[in-house]
Amino acid sequence: MHGILEAIIEPLGSLFFPAHCGGCGRSVSEHELLCRTCDSGLERIRPPRCDVCSQPYSGTTPAFTCPNCHGDQFSFDCAVAVVRSRGVVREMVHRLKYGREMWLARAMASWMYNGLSDPRLRGWTADALVPVPLHPRKLREREFNQSELLANELSRLCKIPVIAPLARVRDTGTQTRLDRNHRRQNLRDAFVLRKNADVADTNLLLVDDVLTTGSTLDACAAVLMRSGACSVRALTAARG
Ligand SMILES: [Zn+2]
Ligand SMILES: [Zn+2]
Repeated sequence: MHGILEAIIEPLGSLFFPAHCGGCGRSVSEHELLCRTCDSGLERIRPPRCDVCSQPYSGTTPAFTCPNCHGDQFSFDCAVAVVRSRGVVREMVHRLKYGREMWLARAMASWMYNGLSDPRLRGWTADALVPVPLHPRKLREREFNQSELLANELSRLCKIPVIAPLARVRDTGTQTRLDRNHRRQNLRDAFVLRKNADVADTNLLLVDDVLTTGSTLDACAAVLMRSGACSVRALTAARG
């Protein structure tokens, strides 16, 4: 009986989590998410980088705030990003979002799990993970929210619960062609606190796939802080 069950469950298991490298598709051993070549190609973000937005910086000063963050208060304390959005990483983010390869969330969440030991998040405990919500129209098109998927995978690893106190009430469209100030303007009022959501006196970790300018995370953090959160920090898999 045991043998039969195993025979049925095992092939199903490998359907959901194929033992293939998330980057190049090469066969990998069961517990590996990326092959050695793809993994060694990841550009991990290490100091020196901006303390606030994780922008890498070539210099020798360990503590540093980049010109973008200097004097320009974000509503989050800091946004930790784990790897640069280049090469395999950029492709994986794209395949997850637009190619519906949801299994890739597992590899990305494992990077984020490592990101939790960043000095900016150590010694600070999040009460909950908060995914960036999609506008309902976009959610209908895409059928899933990649931030939610990442938050759920990360939660499985770190055991911090996921909550969804935010709603996106404005579809801001694609923002890639807008400059920083226009993005910010465009995002104002895009997010609201859901009815009956209560984030008072909580420490919250916003979760998203990629950090570009930080304006989306900032708009979310602003709503959470206005709603009484103690502190908001952010964690993304990649940094544009
Ligand atoms: Zn590979
Ligand atoms: Zn910065």
